[in-house]
Amino acid sequence: MKTSAAVLRTTTTDRPYSDTRPLSVEELTLDAPGPGELLVAIRAAGVCHSDLSVVTGQRVRPLPMALGHEAAGLVQAVGEGVTDVVLGDHVVLVFVPGCGECAWCRTNQPALCATGAAANGAGELMGGGQRLHAADGTTVKHHLGVSAFAEYAVVHRSSAVVIDRDVPFDVAAVLGCAMLTGVGAVFHTADVAAGDSVTVLGLGGVGQAVVLGAVARGASPVVAVDPVPAKQQLALELGATHACGPDEAEALLTSLNDGGSRWVFEAAGVPAVMERAFTLTGRGGTNVCVGLPAPDAKVTFPALAFAGESKTVTGSYMGSSVPQLDIPMLIQRWRDGLLPVERLVSAILPLEAVNDAFEELAAGRAVRQLIHPGADWESTR
Ligand SMILES: [Zn+2]
Ligand SMILES: [Zn+2]
Repeated sequence: MKTSAAVLRTTTTDRPYSDTRPLSVEELTLDAPGPGELLVAIRAAGVCHSDLSVVTGQRVRPLPMALGHEAAGLVQAVGEGVTDVVLGDHVVLVFVPGCGECAWCRTNQPALCATGAAANGAGELMGGGQRLHAADGTTVKHHLGVSAFAEYAVVHRSSAVVIDRDVPFDVAAVLGCAMLTGVGAVFHTADVAAGDSVTVLGLGGVGQAVVLGAVARGASPVVAVDPVPAKQQLALELGATHACGPDEAEALLTSLNDGGSRWVFEAAGVPAVMERAFTLTGRGGTNVCVGLPAPDAKVTFPALAFAGESKTVTGSYMGSSVPQLDIPMLIQRWRDGLLPVERLVSAILPLEAVNDAFEELAAGRAVRQLIHPGADWESTR
């Protein structure tokens, strides 16, 4: 079958995003789902910084690649051997497929699946190879097993979580990356308790999801830090008790917490911000690294602080989540009014506007923009 999809053929490297318009919306041929796979009509797809990092070349991926990894849609066909998904099911797509057999999958850490990570790095689906083909016959790689800036996607069964059909696609899409990553970091990696002090550095989609998670857990104070005033304002509306720019954070935390926060979440993926997060972590506190820096980036921490102040640095990929359990949990919290996911959505755009969306993201102006692929993009709201 045919599908339109946003394809990256050349990274922008250091050129300004507005000069390059790097994504081309192309008509591709999509294979029928193979064994263990699903065909999904994409209804909403979030524009996330991990896609931008591929566009800029910070995350090196094989090209050409069809981007998009945070999405929700409708199941249109199921491949051989798929017995627990039916046509018309609504699904949230997740960006790490799980093999179910490796050491990490067997110990309930599917975010760390070794086979899934290898497939993602190669731009392949779990079953091997690609299902997308360009007009000239060359194959197009899959981004994180999803490739959701497209009308249709073929994904491995483990990349999809079936959800209740009354959940709006715009809410469902954001669950797949921003919410799993941000709320999961609070609920699972850190297990923040009521009354704990929390600071969040970097207020994009994931950082704002950390705020939502911290507020849902009853953390206090919740300090949101970002250079962009509009993002500070949104964090306050989501329940953060304080917000400020990076340069004000140290003085603010000193006044609030006797010199640091119990939990400091870094959601920018920038080494200097990671080092600042460590500084802002209080005695006995933990710095949770959620952002994805460049592969060759290094950070420097004062060595004495580990033993001398019992500080901990820990990492969190996909919020240490188990998507098949955590997506339904997040939906229940959303139903209960504890996680107003829709507040993260800052714009809804057609597929043809995908370059504009990345330009907004690169300029730091957007929290979560959603692409609605297909000609009827407005009516799918
Ligand atoms: Zn993402
Ligand atoms: Zn595995």
